[in-house]
Amino acid sequence: MEEESQKQESDIHRSGFVAIAGRPNVGKSTLLNQLLGEKVAIVTPKPQTTRNRITGIKTAPSYQIIFLDTPGIHRPHSLMNQRMVETALKTLNEVDAVLWLIDVSERIGSEDERIAGIIRESRATTLILLNKIDLIPKPELLPLMERYAALLPGREIVPISALKGENLTLLLELIEKSLPEGPRYYLEGEVTDQTERFLAAEIIREKIFLLTREEVPYATAVTIEEFVEKREKSLIVIKATIHAERETQKGILIGKKGSMLKEIGRQAREEIELLLGCRIFLELFVRVDKDWTHDPRALRELGL
Ligand code: GDP
Ligand code: MG
Repeated sequence: MEEESQKQESDIHRSGFVAIAGRPNVGKSTLLNQLLGEKVAIVTPKPQTTRNRITGIKTAPSYQIIFLDTPGIHRPHSLMNQRMVETALKTLNEVDAVLWLIDVSERIGSEDERIAGIIRESRATTLILLNKIDLIPKPELLPLMERYAALLPGREIVPISALKGENLTLLLELIEKSLPEGPRYYLEGEVTDQTERFLAAEIIREKIFLLTREEVPYATAVTIEEFVEKREKSLIVIKATIHAERETQKGILIGKKGSMLKEIGRQAREEIELLLGCRIFLELFVRVDKDWTHDPRALRELGL
């Protein structure tokens, strides 16, 4: 009898959509990559690098979780940021569960209370993930958990370290429980529905974030103009444009005698080669699109 009911439980297959929400830099992309065991979202030490929704898919015998890596929820400053907030809110209302990530090494601020307010509005199950627990002394954790329990009563609070992989097995179990019964939407082995083109653009953007400073990374976007597979040579030719807002930024992106652009290209090429498992010929162009971050038409054309 006992055995029979266990067997039935294990026959249940669950599936659904899970949003990863939280302020910029709390570790959303790191968590997604850890859970999937593959790099699908870019991770950098600078905030606000994820502008698009990136989907990751985790398939196990008893479940399939489809993750949405939302742009950070924060106050709108420019038109682009306002779009990001709209995207984030829309996402929260379309999903089965929300993972709200918090960086425990940062203070709780009015921002957090605002986000808590937004999350209280959403119908989805919310798991509050206190991330980066490797950065604080153990005795500080319990009072923090109590503060968040007060902020969002009745929601599950899970301390984790996305970077070190701590508590992620428990997290996956909790996510599984929050999903409705449902089929597999994607084939096993598919980890993202983003195209290779998109991933290539993201990698180039990541290198710009790592190699340039101040406003430059925030003032750039990357579009792929050409992505051609030369099968007979197992080579992919990629031509990409880096859009900057001003001539000065273009100058920085190109660098002395082209040295910066060369380095961005070299690092991006190496990583795209690893990702796609073949040789890449990467050609980068820099173009000034005056004030593209404030221009709705330019944003639409760039797919932001
Ligand atoms: P996102 O903006 O929320 O997507 O944040 P990222 O995933 O890009 O991470 C921002 C920074 O926090 C990166 O430097 C990560 O390596 C770091 N980070 C993420 N999770 C952890 C963690 O659990 N512990 C520590 N020490 N650092 C982390
Ligand atoms: Mg991110």
